[in-house]
Amino acid sequence: MYQDVMLHIGGKWRAAKDGRTLDVINPATEEVIGKIAHAGKADLDEALAAAQKGFSTWRQVPAFERSKLMRKAAELLRERAESIATIMTTEQGKPLAEARIELAGAADVIEWFAEEGRRAYGRLIPARADGVYQMVVREPVGVVAGFTPWNFPVSQAVRKISAALAAGCAFILKGPEETPASCAELVRAFADAGLPEGVVQLVYGVPAEISEYLIPHPVVRKISFTGSTAVGKHLAALAGTHMKRATMELGGHGPAIVCNDADLDHAVKILAGSKFRNAGQVCVSPTRFLVQKDVYEPFVERFVQAAKEVKVGNGLDASTTMGPLANARRIAAMEGFVADAVQKGATVRTGGKRVANKGYFFEPTVLTDIAPEARVMHEEPFGPLALMIPFGTVDEAIAEANRLSYGLAAYAYTRSTATAARLGSAIESGMVSINHHGLALPETPFGGVKDSGYGSEGGVEGLEPYLVTKFITQANL
Ligand code: NAD
Repeated sequence: MYQDVMLHIGGKWRAAKDGRTLDVINPATEEVIGKIAHAGKADLDEALAAAQKGFSTWRQVPAFERSKLMRKAAELLRERAESIATIMTTEQGKPLAEARIELAGAADVIEWFAEEGRRAYGRLIPARADGVYQMVVREPVGVVAGFTPWNFPVSQAVRKISAALAAGCAFILKGPEETPASCAELVRAFADAGLPEGVVQLVYGVPAEISEYLIPHPVVRKISFTGSTAVGKHLAALAGTHMKRATMELGGHGPAIVCNDADLDHAVKILAGSKFRNAGQVCVSPTRFLVQKDVYEPFVERFVQAAKEVKVGNGLDASTTMGPLANARRIAAMEGFVADAVQKGATVRTGGKRVANKGYFFEPTVLTDIAPEARVMHEEPFGPLALMIPFGTVDEAIAEANRLSYGLAAYAYTRSTATAARLGSAIESGMVSINHHGLALPETPFGGVKDSGYGSEGGVEGLEPYLVTKFITQANL
């Protein structure tokens, strides 16, 4: 069922010019399940030339027609969701149910941007003289280079591609080498919907080689990256040197504040669900659970219980609620974080170890008594680690929430509307979700502040980065 993955350049699916490939591994079995074409410079040059041509075609297509074609791609994605979900689970590890949700959400994203593209309005500014028309028009920025990671192989890519296409841009996507086939199926849905050739290209290879070639290239006018803060800073610097617009969706270290007056059962249910979703490999995953002293022990007990009830296994098994981590690097990272925290005094309340020796499975893990200097208190774990931290006053919780340089997603649970309002305004974060998990909808903005990046990937804000503003002033003769 798993097929080798080709590059998509100038409307054609093809191998790399020099025939190089990379292996794809099933993280649940560690078996090689397929190969992907590995692009070299000659492939990238072709992708750039195709994108330039694709842009000149696509920008002329009326927004209304672009919208219709995008809706067709959304339909195809829905029709194919079941088979793409199986591919995604096989290469990425997440439970099938999560893969299905990702695909349904991706189709919604395409439709949202298909509509927003029809509303990229300009405006007329009253002139100082009769017969003068001062027009502000929004134009597509040009060819975009996007770099997307393996944790959500479809939804990370669809937000960038859909916004770009809706705005009239062409796209070169460097997809995730670990999870290439489901991402390629997204591109296939657009291609099969009738996207003119050259409007979207898909390449894989060595990420640093590709980004260092594409970002400075004069054909590329904008970049959009999702991944770690360290890589994001490097790419943002490169973009800055070459005066390229950039959107950076980077890491997080989500604080989840649980106050004495919270509905504990509700908080545990939602927070444990979001912690262990995709085995914690989610940029908006809650990581630091800041729990007010009166409810600290009951919260920890119930959370530990919820962690123990997570069924770890192959994502293709219907009973699995948490799959393997995506690759061996994540296992090493989890083991390192846990060993360091324990060595500095932390207690492992549950989990803490790799499960079995085959497949990159790691136990849902809850740590308490964590020293402030433990590495995991500073670095994004990007895995199934929950850190329990007691607090006294709401001010202390706010100070801890804002302590790190990250500022992506934050969560809070309280029955007090006054506390909710205070937390909503005081937390330095791109998104704050209070008393429920309500992030990442197509119609709402998605993005971070501080080291978590800049730019937004949802809502009306999501289209902005793909548009430039032009002012035209015209006088009657
Ligand atoms: P990594 O930092 O090597 O890679 C992260 C992502 O960036 C990958 O998709 C990779 O292909 C890409 N990348 C790396 N170097 C690049 C370069 N020079 N140019 C272009 N792209 C480049 O780490 P990893 O081991 O793959 O993932 C683990 C870390 O990445 C996590 O700790 C997490 O912080 C981050 N991450 C974040 C997200 C997110 O949704 N924000 C997703 C995946 C990974």
